Amino acid sequence: MATTQAPHIALFPSAGMGHLMPYLRLAAMLARRNCIVTLITAHPTVSAAESEHISLFLRHNPEIKRLELELTPSSRQADATPIEPFFLQFHLINQSIHLLGPLLSSSSPPLSAMFVDFALLAETAPIAEDLQLPIYVVSTTSVEFLSLVAYFSVVASNPTEFNEASTELKIPGLPPMAMSSLPPALLDHSHLFTSTIVTNSQALPGAEGILMNTFDWFQASILNALNKDRVMASLPPILPIGPLESYHIPQDGDHCYRSWLENQPSESVVYISFGNRTAMSRDQVRELEKGLEKAGWRFCWNLKTTKVDKDDREDVKDILSDFFLKRTKNKGVIIRGWADQEEILAHPAIGGFVSHCGWNSVMEAAWQGVPMLAWPQHGDQKMNAKVMETAGLGLWESGWDWGPNGIVKGEEIERKIVELMTDETVRERAKKVREEARKAVESGGSSDRVIRNVINSVTLPS
Ligand code: UDP
Ligand code: UDP
Repeated sequence: MATTQAPHIALFPSAGMGHLMPYLRLAAMLARRNCIVTLITAHPTVSAAESEHISLFLRHNPEIKRLELELTPSSRQADATPIEPFFLQFHLINQSIHLLGPLLSSSSPPLSAMFVDFALLAETAPIAEDLQLPIYVVSTTSVEFLSLVAYFSVVASNPTEFNEASTELKIPGLPPMAMSSLPPALLDHSHLFTSTIVTNSQALPGAEGILMNTFDWFQASILNALNKDRVMASLPPILPIGPLESYHIPQDGDHCYRSWLENQPSESVVYISFGNRTAMSRDQVRELEKGLEKAGWRFCWNLKTTKVDKDDREDVKDILSDFFLKRTKNKGVIIRGWADQEEILAHPAIGGFVSHCGWNSVMEAAWQGVPMLAWPQHGDQKMNAKVMETAGLGLWESGWDWGPNGIVKGEEIERKIVELMTDETVRERAKKVREEARKAVESGGSSDRVIRNVINSVTLPS
């Protein structure tokens, strides 16, 4: 029988916890499957959560190697329009990628493949080609959003098809996408968000495959259209390998929510979180207070008022009203800073999840079968919300306002939270999603088969 050598895979995430978490999970999963893994990290990171998680993860997984890419300072003019710190970081990493070739070529044992974030694909592809390494994209969004991104280089060059007056975007072979669900920044061609998408989408056809944190059952129809019917013929295969498994690192300290959750009845608590990089405005905080207080359900609220965690220094008492804090004293717990969301969603006291629908959050809720109330804020989140609702994992009120100035009224929030926590059909359907998620990753399941094939295809005979 021919012998093989363990493949050595370099993983290259971009910026933000939403991009880092799936890579750390994948790194641990590949190491468990006997691959040699190198994690490429950019230094410095934007958020404290990123640098803390990278250190903690590597300490607990000493077999995983690390290559650090030292970022060169931005060449953008100091007086240029301010941009989102995470987009700026995509740009900075791309600017420093020329340092990557020498780092990679000295890797030992030699590399077998590169797995890279979409936002870094165009700049990384020529380096991988020089080293004759196959390149895979690891996408951090839904297949729907990925297909929009993939088609976007066509759309961007066709203003008659895509402009402020359009109500729908039609990608041949796929259901039309409502313009109201697309990130508004896409209409602005000079926006860094849009130029990142256009540049990288042009590089997608050169990738061997696009690994996605999803599973066949959850997005069956679009996966069929792309993989079997080949409606976007230039796209490489979409490879659903999720839900990506947690990497289980014991958390230090006794966070206040742990002991509090222990004392709550089963499925009685609504968990509220909008991810790592969504700041809630004071006006919206007031309305959410009203909604929570009136809905009357117990709650665990992960409260963030700045985009970057390092800036979030205010005390709960300076953000929430005395009235709300008094009225809800024994009803809820407020979290400031990082909390282990996977652990919270796994807790039997949690009965519902109010979420912005960042894709990692959707997959974590699917894994636990916790019904979601989608409250998208920006980016891919409305499209993700629709996917989540269609799969039967929860509710979405598509008319709710979004964007930095959008406001949803307390009465509306109250109404939907009550519906989320009392609708037995939603609860049953979410449990079905959990069952299917677990089937996908078990040995021989759809996601397990896909990742096995990918590992085999980058494994060389020795
Ligand atoms: N997360 C967490 N604790 C926090 C905030 C976020 O564990 O306090 C995790 C969450 O479980 C998910 C990721 O960070 O894995 C957030 O990714 P998502 O795609 O949901 O949203 P983003 O932060 O990118 O908007
Ligand atoms: N993007 C991505 N992964 C993909 C496809 C696109 O990260 O598979 C792009 C996305 O289109 C945008 C950037 O990466 O250019 C991040 O977008 P956003 O902030 O909306 O997503 P998030 O980082 O919150 O997941």
